[in-house]
Amino acid sequence: MPISLTSRHVAVIGAGAAGLVAARELRREGHKVVVFEREAQIGGTWVYDPHAEPDPLSLDQNRSIIHSSLYSSLRTNLPREVMGFRDYPFISKADKTRDPRRFPGHREVLLYLQDFAREFKIEEMVRFETEVVHVGLVEDSKKWKVRYKKKRVDNDAEFGIGFNFDDEIYDAVLVCNGHYTEPRVAEIPGISSWPGKQMHSHNYRVPEPFQDQVVILIGSSSSAVDISREISGVAKEVHVASRSVANEKYEEQHGYDNIWLHSMIESVHEDGSVVFQNGRIVQADIILHCTGYKYHFPFLTNGIVTVDDNRVGPLYKHVFPPILAPWLSFVGLPWKVVPFPMFEFQSKWIASVLSGRVALPLQEEMMKDIEAFYLSLEASNIPKRYTHNMGDHQFDYNNWLAAQCGCEGIEEWRKQMYCATSNNRRLRPDTYRDEWEDDHLILEANEDFIQKDL
Ligand code: FAD
Repeated sequence: MPISLTSRHVAVIGAGAAGLVAARELRREGHKVVVFEREAQIGGTWVYDPHAEPDPLSLDQNRSIIHSSLYSSLRTNLPREVMGFRDYPFISKADKTRDPRRFPGHREVLLYLQDFAREFKIEEMVRFETEVVHVGLVEDSKKWKVRYKKKRVDNDAEFGIGFNFDDEIYDAVLVCNGHYTEPRVAEIPGISSWPGKQMHSHNYRVPEPFQDQVVILIGSSSSAVDISREISGVAKEVHVASRSVANEKYEEQHGYDNIWLHSMIESVHEDGSVVFQNGRIVQADIILHCTGYKYHFPFLTNGIVTVDDNRVGPLYKHVFPPILAPWLSFVGLPWKVVPFPMFEFQSKWIASVLSGRVALPLQEEMMKDIEAFYLSLEASNIPKRYTHNMGDHQFDYNNWLAAQCGCEGIEEWRKQMYCATSNNRRLRPDTYRDEWEDDHLILEANEDFIQKDL
């Protein structure tokens, strides 16, 4: 007997890749969807803004926020075949205005997301320049009151632009607000009296301001690798400090005569010196923190979901807080993943739980699962801040989500291509985007796209 599915009134916060695919999956499942987007266009991270925030460390909570952390030269760190949504592949377009490269520049990703939104008519669900400022339970009910502010241009020039605040009631809320906007800054002994400049990679756009400077760059992520190399083209010296480098280590970066790799910074001093754990001392002009970001949900203040040392919790499978499930959910929290397909799986799961097609375990069972997960992290000495770091588990996680919804899991070629790219990046950090050895997997991916008639 066919199950009758329940249609819910659902609010989605954010129209980046996660919010777009969530809106699509929710509507496919029969829900009525409104997407709230603070900016004037879709795309989130992929909307490059040449401006940076005025506070180079972005510490002021009342600052006017620039959402994207992209720099001008950024090319994807995943090949397009791996990166795209599962049923809307990111294939090169035979159009001169498009970037056909396998690891394209950031504009191409934005154009792809715009194509996706157009194809599935997602924009008609989006309310632009509308920021969600508060999400709270309506008293004595399981419904949500979503408070938002919308830009208003007053006719009276004296008052200029203002905001209208309004409330609406929803059955469910999906949080898709991204987590690469609120910088995390390294703690450095002596920093308050160090005379140099500091900035976070959130505000890095182009290398020119680093001309002839001695730069200390902290971090070892993909952005840190790209930015250190780009800056070295204009800077006098670039010293990279990284937790993943052993204490005594100090060496020149292979292929560069002005990049050095160090262990972490031990302290900085009033005379402008920076002392590393390896004993080296450098007189530096600027410290560039490529130290990642914090989860940040300023609109959620009920204390049921908290962020503790970058652990968002308690969440069942990184998605549902048991007490509020399935009426509140999060898409896109895990990192070190292939983001777009994972957003797709999480969204399918949420949509089918909301409609009643798929059941969640009992609240107590979900809590037990979370507790067991936290204990397993502790037992392996994994710090709290790595709770959502998926790494090697991401494909099992995707397949678990797929099994919940009764859909096909992650493609074998996608897994293999992801591994091949990771190895290639390790071996050829400077050229992996243009030289590779997995052409056979590209063929397989393209055959798969044709077979699925995508
Ligand atoms: P976002 O894209 O950040 O979108 C969140 C949206 O929510 C934004 O539009 C924002 O305006 C909106 N919003 C936030 N708060 C509110 C509010 N209160 N009310 C209304 N709207 C709100 N991924 C890859 O797959 N390949 C790559 O090569 C890659 N490179 C990256 C490089 C950098 C430098 C960074 C920072 C990330 C990179 N990523 C990459 C990861 C990237 O973040 C994800 O691919 C993806 O874009 C995240 O989508 P999202 O929808 O979760 O968040």
